[in-house]
Amino acid sequence: MKTILKMMAMTAMMAAPLANAQAQDQKFNYSDERFADLQMLRYEVKGFDQLTLRQKTFIYYLQEAAQLGRDILWDQNGKYNLRIRKILETIYTEYQGDKTSADFQAFEVYLKRVWFSNGIHHHYGCEKFEPGFSRAWFVQTAKTLLTRHADLTFLVAQLDEIAEVMFNPNILQKRVNLAEGQDLVLTSASNYYDGVTQAEAEDFYNAMKDPSDPHPVMFGMNSRLVKRDGKVQELRWTTDGLYGEALTKIVAKLEQARPFAEDKDQQAVIDKLVEFYRTGDLHTFDDYTILWAGNTAPLIDFVNGFTECYGDPLGLKCSWESIVNFKDLEATKRTETLSKNAQWFEDHSPVDPRFKKDKVKGISAKVITAAMLGGDLYPSTAIGINLPNSDWVRKEHGSKSVTIGNLTEAYNQAAKGSGFGKEFVISQEVRDMVDKYGDLTDDLHTDLHECLGHGSGRLLDGVDSDSLKAYGSTIEEARADLFGLYYVADAKLVELGLVPDAEAYKAQYYTYMQNGLLTQLVRIQPGNNIEEAHMRNRALIAHWCYEQGRAENVVELVKRDGKTYVQINDYEKLRTLFGRLLAEIQRVKSEGDYAAAQALVENYGVKVDPVLHREVLDRYEKLNLAPYKGFINPVYTAVRDAQGNIIDVTVSYTEGYAAQMLRYSREFATLPL
Ligand code: ZN
Repeated sequence: MKTILKMMAMTAMMAAPLANAQAQDQKFNYSDERFADLQMLRYEVKGFDQLTLRQKTFIYYLQEAAQLGRDILWDQNGKYNLRIRKILETIYTEYQGDKTSADFQAFEVYLKRVWFSNGIHHHYGCEKFEPGFSRAWFVQTAKTLLTRHADLTFLVAQLDEIAEVMFNPNILQKRVNLAEGQDLVLTSASNYYDGVTQAEAEDFYNAMKDPSDPHPVMFGMNSRLVKRDGKVQELRWTTDGLYGEALTKIVAKLEQARPFAEDKDQQAVIDKLVEFYRTGDLHTFDDYTILWAGNTAPLIDFVNGFTECYGDPLGLKCSWESIVNFKDLEATKRTETLSKNAQWFEDHSPVDPRFKKDKVKGISAKVITAAMLGGDLYPSTAIGINLPNSDWVRKEHGSKSVTIGNLTEAYNQAAKGSGFGKEFVISQEVRDMVDKYGDLTDDLHTDLHECLGHGSGRLLDGVDSDSLKAYGSTIEEARADLFGLYYVADAKLVELGLVPDAEAYKAQYYTYMQNGLLTQLVRIQPGNNIEEAHMRNRALIAHWCYEQGRAENVVELVKRDGKTYVQINDYEKLRTLFGRLLAEIQRVKSEGDYAAAQALVENYGVKVDPVLHREVLDRYEKLNLAPYKGFINPVYTAVRDAQGNIIDVTVSYTEGYAAQMLRYSREFATLPL
């Protein structure tokens, strides 16, 4: 029930480690500036120009609504964040001193990191940033500049307290603290609780739960829990409650968008969301998500609201986020084609007929184009969405599972100039092949994995779905991956027009084996084993095939100038090995063979060769790649006639990172300091 597949930027790059510095698409600039551990990227909103005026207008209002909640997220991430942002931006825009000084240079990097994290803690690691400039310089500079603004002088009186928050490493250390044995609520710097202990918060919400309710609401998702006059109580986030100024503006924008919605059902979705923002009623929220999950006909869709619970150590409170998007019809055709042929794939798979489904239904995963990212999806973002969160809503009313095609493409394109392929792919010939077919076959592999792989096969009667226990998720991911690997090379894909020729699959085979045997190790700390299920599954598949194909030299690890490379000598035999392992993994799953699952995972998926690991880490480090990536949004401009009616909406990609952040702070500042 993960809401959104939050992905470290690097993960996406590792999924398709591509070759060759020449990006195919020269006209669009996917990479922008780099600072600290961050690389800024841009995404292209392909297809926007082909939308109707009505659709463009709908998106125009929704993308404004997507930014109007920005301050909510900043405040959720920490109670000093909005004031700190105001002070930092005042210094940044009005500083008259030496901008080449060490203090100012470090200050600029600090501000860019704070912008990126929507607060003073790292967006991923949650630790507080260490300012690289002096506290004395900061306080003096801020005092001088703030004093010039009548409306900001109140901040001067708070400067010492704020500087303490920024500079003292011993207070508000982590945004979210999950360390066992501590009071997670008191020790987390996020702003979801005030004056309450973890035990008080847990008692408060446990008292609300009714275990016999088959349709429980998500208690606590839209409020701050505080203690006032000795009493624990909720401050709800509603148009006339906490965050009311921001929510009122979001509601007004949603109502401007409403007439341009694509159908009546979508208008009902907007109405329900507005009702929820006004009342804060959690049953209304469930009703809204049910309407939203069922509204699948429109091209355009959006998320706007309290969604992610990662920022709350107790996992109850939801951070605000938004994405505006529209269906990528071309890519969605791909997943629909696979879904339509689901039975053919099931019937022809290399697994024992006893483990096959008589009737299989493919999942028609939708591919979308992001048009705007906001709140907790900006600048760091997800590449897939799976909502709503509520278990019973998902079970009884379904959910939407989408992948965001243009963000994945941006990651892939940006990775092409990174030198990664040049370092790890064995030859120019293979690099060219990966360059030509890598993106396409990687997308297809993901589609096969998601639309068909997970849904294929069946358990034998009487087998408990939990019998593989801790090995269950690795085996399940391996099953879906192998289904994809086996079929990405099938002539059926050529026949269905999903690949241009019978050679394309080799790009996926090469990158998959390279990743599983070598390059995914860059994400493991020296001395550690592989823990994460997807990584274990890739290691399992790659090492098993490597070993089983050894006698016939199917896949080799070759050394050149002290560097290890993957070489595939026989792609067809490799496919046979994938098929054999798929049959075995399906048997293990269908029979619930715990001992076999344990042996496969422990022997092939967990251990790391320390010498090879060191080599891969050293080679990767030399590439000096930013571990985290995020996106600068496009800018939409409404073209209006003399009466003020929108007659067109244009999109541009030239706004810089700092300029965008400053503009958002100007145009979309919704909360008081
Ligand atoms: Zn999966």
